Amino acid sequence: MTWHILGAGSLGSLWAARLARRGLPVRLVLRDRPRLAAYEAVGGLTLVEQGTERHYPIPAELPSSAGPISRLLVACKAYDAESAVQPLLPRLAPGAELILLQNGLGSQDAVALRLPHARCVLASSTEGAFREADFRVVFAGHGFTWLGDPRQPAAPAWLDDLEQAGIPHGWTPDILSRLWRKLALNCAINPLTVLYGCRNGGLAEHPAEVSVLCAELAELLQRCGQPDAAEGLHEEVLRVIQATAANYSSMYQDVANGRRTEISYLLGHACASAARHRLSLPHLDSLHDRLRAHLAQRGLPVT
Ligand code: NAP
Repeated sequence: MTWHILGAGSLGSLWAARLARRGLPVRLVLRDRPRLAAYEAVGGLTLVEQGTERHYPIPAELPSSAGPISRLLVACKAYDAESAVQPLLPRLAPGAELILLQNGLGSQDAVALRLPHARCVLASSTEGAFREADFRVVFAGHGFTWLGDPRQPAAPAWLDDLEQAGIPHGWTPDILSRLWRKLALNCAINPLTVLYGCRNGGLAEHPAEVSVLCAELAELLQRCGQPDAAEGLHEEVLRVIQATAANYSSMYQDVANGRRTEISYLLGHACASAARHRLSLPHLDSLHDRLRAHLAQRGLPVT
């Protein structure tokens, strides 16, 4: 069965190249005619791994192309996922499965609501990749991808394809807990690195602020029915700050490069969930306000 991959950015290209080089059928779905023409001009994807580059002439098509789609990897940013899937709806075959690679929470529900009859598998990945140029991606950090379906605990048969492609992964009945935990770690670290203009390690100079945010985030996770995700959150945040002290967070990098952030699906989602549960989290709300003001000042979207 063909893997249709929507979005030939960092993660989409990383998955596409690894599946294709094991001989698995892959097709990229690009946003429009100019992007398809640009892709055809370079003749494929280039993946750079440990300084070595390889070219993958993977076929590509438009959302409006003919032919059914049975398996779709959605590899767009969270804010693009719903609108990017929309034109593909008429092509989805009965029993189609989608794998949603988006960080944070909120975009997955938005996509799933449009597809009551398709299976949506959620992913949470710690792999790292970035675009060096159009259709040229660097595999920057080995990691692991958790997959799961909150509505259907049975693992899909296509996990064998991931095994074959050497994509490190695991199936979990509790993918929501993993996504919430990652969201909480992100909320405790990334916005502060943007506001203080520092590497992750710079947060060691703001222990009280980190601590109070972790306490509020743990309260939120409990209230959202995710007690496991709340367990030991503060300790893990401190560990991550230490272990990744030299790194700039993904949100820091987005802002530094003038790119839109996924704020609405991270801190924005946390604050909206707290409001829905009538939970007052003043430090988290204030962080959200400060971050939005900071983005607005730089002419970046605040959602
Ligand atoms: P990215 O490099 O910006 O790639 C996103 C791709 O989606 C782009 O190629 C973009 O196309 C494409 N796209 C957007 N709208 C589209 C549409 N309507 N139709 C077709 N394609 C469309 O993003 P990324 O870094 O791979 O991130 C994807 C998700 O994975 C994010 O939620 C991110 O947080 C998460 N994630 C990323 C990493 C990482 O290391 N990169 C790690 C863990 C999680 P254009 O090229 O035409 O703009």
